[in-house]
Amino acid sequence: MSRFMSPRFAGLEAYTPGEQPQDQQYVKLNTNESPYPPSPAVVAAISAEEVSRLNLYPDPTGRVLKEKLAALYGVKAENIFLSNGSDDILNFAFMAFCDSERGAAFPEISYGFYPVYADLYHVDCVKIPLKEDFGVDYRDYCNIDRMVVIANPNAPTGMEISLAEIEEILKTNPNRIVLIDEAYIDFGGTSCVDLIRKYDNLLVVQTYSKSRSMAGARLGFAIADAGIIADLEKIKYSTNPYNINRLTLLAGEAAVESNAYYVENAKKIAATR
Ligand SMILES: *Cc1c(COP(=O)(O)O)cnc(C)c1O
Repeated sequence: MSRFMSPRFAGLEAYTPGEQPQDQQYVKLNTNESPYPPSPAVVAAISAEEVSRLNLYPDPTGRVLKEKLAALYGVKAENIFLSNGSDDILNFAFMAFCDSERGAAFPEISYGFYPVYADLYHVDCVKIPLKEDFGVDYRDYCNIDRMVVIANPNAPTGMEISLAEIEEILKTNPNRIVLIDEAYIDFGGTSCVDLIRKYDNLLVVQTYSKSRSMAGARLGFAIADAGIIADLEKIKYSTNPYNINRLTLLAGEAAVESNAYYVENAKKIAATR
């Protein structure tokens, strides 16, 4: 740490991203990217003509992509938040919904970025051990009065909690956000997106990086009650309003239209496993 850096970061241990060799001589399994390329429609969307428009800022509202995602998930555009990779949503959630009084809770064995964000914002967090069978015991999160963050299915265990269990966590923590990270939901598991109609404290996070073959484009999104989305937008417009670049917006719009291609690929990946 140089003498210029604020001492509040003295204890911070940064996240170490997975190794990303650039020479393409390996079968790469370490960061769960798709082995399949983006859909042909995505590839076609990034035309030379679109590249030539990079002198212009992107639409900060991401209106077209939000409307397409809203239609795909049967919600309204006001229920969708777009981000530069889903890591950004996790970052914003810890920034927006936690502080010295508002703690966080997540499984001890899960995505390694959760504790880094908790440290970054000096959030009091509890890391809850898994059960003997490596599953998450939902009862550990009931009435906990902290922001709950659960990857479902969990990583790296691949184990899932049920919608009924998620509902119990939501009901018993009505004044705290319950963030369900669905990075791997397309590979098996039941999405809890539909529960956003019933619970205004549910924040569902998804990514284009895994099943949708676009890790390099950096695109994630959240689905939640309009109130939570407005809070996240406030943080976005206070940090980087143009958080999604023009090419990624176009790629995302084409990817939504290609959902069937990604569903098919997810099946192939599960079969290969
Ligand atoms: C990969 C992953 C993310 C982050 O993905 P982005 O590339 O930032 O969208 C978030 N949560 C889990 C559990 C992941 O495995």
